[in-house]
Amino acid sequence: MKKSDLIIIGGGPGGYHAADYAAKQGLQVIVIEKGNVGGTCLNEGCIPTKSFVHDAELLRNPLLSCVGGGIVDFKNIRERKDNVVSQLREGVETILSQKGITLVRGCASFKDSRTVEVDGETYQADNIIIATGSHAKIPPFARQPAFNPEKSRTKVVISTELLDIKEVPDRLAIVGAGVVGMEFASVFNSFGSDVRVYEFMKECLPAVDKDIAKRLRKNMEKQGIQFNMKYSVKSIEELDADVVLIAVGRAANTEGLNLEAAGVKVGKNGITVDDNMRTNVPGIYAIGDVNGRQMLAHAAIFQGLRAVNQVIGKTDDIRFDVMPAAVFTCPEAACVGLSEDTLKEQGIVFKTHKGFYRSNGKALAADETEGMLKLFVGEDRRVLGCHVFGAHAADIVQEVSGLMTLGVTVDRLHDIIHIHPTYGEILQDAIQF
Ligand code: FAD
Repeated sequence: MKKSDLIIIGGGPGGYHAADYAAKQGLQVIVIEKGNVGGTCLNEGCIPTKSFVHDAELLRNPLLSCVGGGIVDFKNIRERKDNVVSQLREGVETILSQKGITLVRGCASFKDSRTVEVDGETYQADNIIIATGSHAKIPPFARQPAFNPEKSRTKVVISTELLDIKEVPDRLAIVGAGVVGMEFASVFNSFGSDVRVYEFMKECLPAVDKDIAKRLRKNMEKQGIQFNMKYSVKSIEELDADVVLIAVGRAANTEGLNLEAAGVKVGKNGITVDDNMRTNVPGIYAIGDVNGRQMLAHAAIFQGLRAVNQVIGKTDDIRFDVMPAAVFTCPEAACVGLSEDTLKEQGIVFKTHKGFYRSNGKALAADETEGMLKLFVGEDRRVLGCHVFGAHAADIVQEVSGLMTLGVTVDRLHDIIHIHPTYGEILQDAIQF
């Protein structure tokens, strides 16, 4: 039996950042990881997709291209992605060992509320953080017996497998127009696939303001991607594609943890937690995708910091109601706070300020004139939300997140000097009128 102050199950962004922070606070930490450190984010999510996004953007401009002079050299693109991932993974392993954090390789399951077992060895701590992430959901039509991969010419993949595919598919069908589906649609369109997206809902990206989501979709249509909205896929064969990406959402990794032994409650979307990431069992916390709150890497990281702060009895000012998010299509879309529809549904009085890329110097100079920003301001002049479609949307939204976190009024934005020429000026222009 090995004892420590804190056990963290899962070495993804939630787990390893929490471990790093806890070790800095003087806690003895054990991280248990059954796969690669870095989790989904580093190995098969945020990082490898953004390596693809980068090369896809270069390919759009053959004059600038350093990934094959405008010609798709997919082997090179894949290798670069693999190098980026392994470099970062090594970095995480180094951080863990330099901080004296014990990394246990293997699959953890609870024996009781203070004890975890890995390959017959037991580990004990008064505090345990569950950070086991999530996995792709597979709808029945893409599983046996409805779909038999041995009898079909069509290859059905999830995002992890598409990242490792050997050749760019001629015809790629994507089921689901959420963040993952939209990013792969954008990337593989640039790589030369004929991309068709199938989505059950009326519009893509349900969390994003409808106007903004529609503009993004229309822009992607102009680039040659076909969208089939309000479409309920019944079978793989009807999609008539070489490869079908299933991107219909993700589900919490709770299986195999033997949560019953610890008495931890699981809800519809994952492990049930309060705003301090506490489960129903004192001393057990759940952070990141496994609690199903906001399936984003930065959500996992900050939830982990909150959980460690709870362990050491420290208060913090992290605001989980101000959670920025982005979709790294080309161009991007990003948002923070409420959308116009949600504000209306909730009967909140607000004013909409709009900014346009076409009148921004930097956007014109960079030939990125397609884009729009919507900023929602409440009666008390505080910012309620900002949704943007266009180049570097994520960076603009980041600034608004700062304002919202500090709770300042939009009038303060008037006083903040913005570098000229930058996309950030679109935000300031939006409130001039
Ligand atoms: P994970 O990163 O999933 O890590 C969980 C870890 O726990 C894994 O390493 C797993 O092996 C381990 N584990 C599970 N069970 C056990 C067990 N029983 N014992 C030991 N170890 C276990 N988010 C963004 O913010 N920005 C993006 O651009 C972005 N892009 C994405 C692109 C794709 C294609 C995908 C799929 C996701 C993307 N995400 C993005 C989401 C992001 O990857 C996740 O929100 C984030 O990884 C969640 O972090 P986590 O620490 O909760 O879990």
